[in-house]
Amino acid sequence: MLQTPATNIGQLPPEMLDFTILKSTGSLAPRLGRLSLPGRKTVLTPAFIGNTSRGAIPHISQDNFRKCGGLEGVYIPLEDFIEKHPQKTPPIFKIEARDPLRKFIALPNDTFTVLGARRSPPISTPVAHTNTEISLLTSVGFRSMTSEYYAAAACKLQPDIVVGLADIPFGQEVVGTKRKDKMSDRTEMWLRDIIAKKNGMGEEERKFNIFAPILPIERDLQSWYLEHLLDDMVDKISGVAIYDAYLLDDLPDELHHLPRLSFHVPASPQELLRQVSLGMDLFTIPFINFASDAGIALDFTFPPPAKIGDSPRQALGIDMWDPELAVSVTPISGGCTCNACTKHHRAYIQHLLSAKEMLGWVLIQIHNHAVLDSFFTSIRASIEAGTFDADVATFSAFYEPQLPDKTGQGPRVRGYQFKSEEHGKSGKKNPKAYKKFDEEKIVQLRAAHGQNKAVRDLVDDEALVGLVGMTDMEGVKLDGVALGEDEVKA
Ligand SMILES: [Zn+2]
Repeated sequence: MLQTPATNIGQLPPEMLDFTILKSTGSLAPRLGRLSLPGRKTVLTPAFIGNTSRGAIPHISQDNFRKCGGLEGVYIPLEDFIEKHPQKTPPIFKIEARDPLRKFIALPNDTFTVLGARRSPPISTPVAHTNTEISLLTSVGFRSMTSEYYAAAACKLQPDIVVGLADIPFGQEVVGTKRKDKMSDRTEMWLRDIIAKKNGMGEEERKFNIFAPILPIERDLQSWYLEHLLDDMVDKISGVAIYDAYLLDDLPDELHHLPRLSFHVPASPQELLRQVSLGMDLFTIPFINFASDAGIALDFTFPPPAKIGDSPRQALGIDMWDPELAVSVTPISGGCTCNACTKHHRAYIQHLLSAKEMLGWVLIQIHNHAVLDSFFTSIRASIEAGTFDADVATFSAFYEPQLPDKTGQGPRVRGYQFKSEEHGKSGKKNPKAYKKFDEEKIVQLRAAHGQNKAVRDLVDDEALVGLVGMTDMEGVKLDGVALGEDEVKA
């Protein structure tokens, strides 16, 4: 079904999101779309949006944001900004300006913002959700947040898109049927909360678009929620947030015209292609950050280059810590036009990583975003040309199924980058940057600085021997030449 043509944008209320499906061959098939928000860059889908941490793409400062290819939108989790103690007003809520969230994170005006409650991927929390609250991991610890607080935050921060709160027990392997019933009930209630809050906003206030979460459970178990969503909320929402792409088959037909944002975390480009093949439109891709932190420069194209003979499958990335690259003065990828590849070579990037120089990760991050940007451009071209399925098959045959393993050391990790079960483990999360040398090393260093008596004497003796020209001590009878202690006494 075609939506309002994008040419009508001028007549839409200022905050209205418009999504047009440009090409689709069926309900569970790849599709092309165009997402427009007034004042923001138009996005052709399938596409990915930046996954921020504390308001920034990791390693990318605001002045480098433009160099990071293809970021027409960013995902911002609210849990990054709220404090552990509810009585403290988080600084983000103190900004008195139009579009405060954008001002706070210094985001360009034409980049659209998506606000959610949890990071992508979220870290499981020790406290269960209640009927009115979900449990979060703020940057300073765990706390709960009410649905009302979240709705109020959305009104205050004025993002372009807000993802409704979903009651999903992240990290729980098995979820019982009763718990699934609760998930459906609570998600419905919380979605009503945010719709009500938006409806209560003043005329002059900038409104947001709501994406309704679709729970990662079978359709009949969330039927209560879906029925109400279709009966009386479908005209209040502008998109859906999907937590399990493989349940897209269950998505009611009445929601097919809406843009789909995936929170189903893909582990590899192959999984991204699988989700695209099911009709997903927008992605947050956590593996970009994981790869960059591990010093892995992604290296794949879609469709892949022609396979030469019986050559083994190619790796999806280059481990920039590989000792062989220490003398490699070629760009990361030959065909890449990103800022890192056009100006620097592999050996330099490895040197930066070894020296723990931040720029190393900055360059890899810029490159990795450029790789994903051209990956999605090619995906759209392939869907347009009708060769998507064949291209996916050659891609799977050409590349290894998983990203390379991490070998080198990444940048310092923060608490919220850890799975919660790892918080309980003893031992240091980051190796000590500074530590005491052992005894042997101390002796060596002191010697080098002339501070150790025993070693200094040895050095002085050697120097003396050099001065008198007796380089070969073997076989030289010193007794007759130098005055020994005994002779002096005598
Ligand atoms: Zn590059």
